[in-house]
Amino acid sequence: MSRLAYVNGRYVRHADAAVHIEDRGYQFGDGVYEVCEIRDRAIIDLDLHLDRLDRSLSELRIVMPMSRAALTAVLREVARENRVRDGLVYIQVTRGVARRDHYFPVPAPRPALVVTARSLDRRKGEAAANEGIAVITRPDERWARVDIKTTGLLPNVLAKQAAREAGAREAWLVDRDGYVTEGGSTNAWIVTADGALVTRPAERGILRGITRTVLLKAAEAAGLRVEERPFTVAEAKAAREAFVTAASTIVMPVVRIDDAPVGAGRPGPFALSLRGGFHEHAQHTPI
Ligand code: PLP
Repeated sequence: MSRLAYVNGRYVRHADAAVHIEDRGYQFGDGVYEVCEIRDRAIIDLDLHLDRLDRSLSELRIVMPMSRAALTAVLREVARENRVRDGLVYIQVTRGVARRDHYFPVPAPRPALVVTARSLDRRKGEAAANEGIAVITRPDERWARVDIKTTGLLPNVLAKQAAREAGAREAWLVDRDGYVTEGGSTNAWIVTADGALVTRPAERGILRGITRTVLLKAAEAAGLRVEERPFTVAEAKAAREAFVTAASTIVMPVVRIDDAPVGAGRPGPFALSLRGGFHEHAQHTPI
């Protein structure tokens, strides 16, 4: 079976899928994206992801080229055609194609919309969660509008590559005051010695992760104490547990930060039970 992608109104073979060389996403990173989990043939938290997509687009003054209902139909079609039971669906919208010039093109071109989907091996995710992952810390060198989910991810790419070269899976980015902002592609959490869940407020310095939002609700429903406040690298290293969240990993325990084991150096009960219960609190849209 060959993979299929949606590109600007057409379903095409993934291998042949292409956009123009003067697409502003390609030239300027002038575009936004979303990634949703697919689990048991359902898209997880689709409405929240599409709400955030709308917000990202409006911050950049890009007009979504199709209705939410039509986009949902495309997402389901791409997921189904690629026979994805468990995996990810990716949506990207850029300002479109125009002669290279920094100013917004006038008249505005039609924004470019691309949708892809791929399968992931759920057993591998579970195996990683049972082992836990290592993270390294790096200075946060990103721009100030990381609340917008733009395709301009070069600092994230460099930080995550540094993590890989150091034998870790994720890089925790650290602001000038020594506080962890978030991971290169995940939100960061710790559990304090007295059992409080701590994660940075989403008002500044991080992307408001959908998994983060849903997990906050799940934690509240479980009666857990949550503190939305910044935490330092030192506090994280001394924490009882640490974990990261994202649509691509759900809740992933962190067992090492730089050279320091977290807690007992194994995934802890908070992370594992939040991971186990997450989908009960999520919205499921069948593909
Ligand atoms: N932070 C960053 C920088 C991300 O790139 C992502 C996901 O891609 C997240 C956080 C987690 O967001 P979500 O839970 O919506 O996947």
